[in-house]
Amino acid sequence: MAIDGRGKVAVVTGASSGIGRQTALALARAGFDVAVGARRKERLADLVDEIARETGKAAYAAALDVTSVPSIDAFVQGVIGHFGVVHVLVNNAGKALGRDPVETADEADWQEMLDTNVMGLMRMTKRFLPHIVASGDGHIVNLGSIAGHESYAGGSVYCATKFAVRAITEALRHELLGKPVRVTSIDPGMVETEFSLVRFHGDASEAAKVYQGVRPLTADDIADCIVFAVTRPAHVNIDEMIVTSIDQAGARVFHRRGAPS
Ligand code: NAP
Repeated sequence: MAIDGRGKVAVVTGASSGIGRQTALALARAGFDVAVGARRKERLADLVDEIARETGKAAYAAALDVTSVPSIDAFVQGVIGHFGVVHVLVNNAGKALGRDPVETADEADWQEMLDTNVMGLMRMTKRFLPHIVASGDGHIVNLGSIAGHESYAGGSVYCATKFAVRAITEALRHELLGKPVRVTSIDPGMVETEFSLVRFHGDASEAAKVYQGVRPLTADDIADCIVFAVTRPAHVNIDEMIVTSIDQAGARVFHRRGAPS
């Protein structure tokens, strides 16, 4: 039977758009108190208002750059100072940058993906972990990807970061065995968010091509999976969920309507 989030605190990173935003909203609807972080703080104010309107809950929002140690430390201190406890951490902040082959890809893009998707996730987890363990009913949810199961041309480093997320998730499950902490990886296929706009450095026409002729998943579809995982009874660990649109059969395999077959 599902449990609800009443009396529990959930932290969502990268909550200014897409999956993170909708997850924070869905967790608040499920009864959790939520703390949200992202670099675009003005967008978080908007989310806090929406959560208050819909659920009557006062969410905690603060600027967070997961690539910056001082920013991470300030965010963690702020959340703990505000709520005193954390049960759930959703490590969602992440990105792909570029889709060029290794030979021509931008090394600054590689560094930013590694710093955000891998080091950011590790640092957030390390700092919140003592609080999550102490909560007595903790859960770490990492956003992986289908790209953490299958590599594709032009995705070497993004795929590497998501393979890393999978490895980290598995290692954590071993390390935390015997402690009251569940560890889950949610691994989506194509989801229509700002992801592609970010990947193509703001080129809206390149981003639009990604979703042409397919029905992609929405951020709400993934938020729903995350809420499902965290509202199972405390002894039920959803290890991993690979979730794709009906129009996707592999990391780069799509059925596109209107395209020659
Ligand atoms: P999105 O709409 O671009 O959202 C990404 C979020 O990450 C934003 O809120 C962004 O906020 C935040 N972020 C980026 N860099 C950050 C940093 N340095 N510090 C803190 N926050 C940062 O993309 P999305 O699709 O929701 O992506 C969410 C997660 O799902 C990512 O981990 C992504 O890899 C994964 N995923 C997405 C897809 C897809 O097709 N969309 C598929 C599989 C997995 P700010 O820019 O305001 O900081």
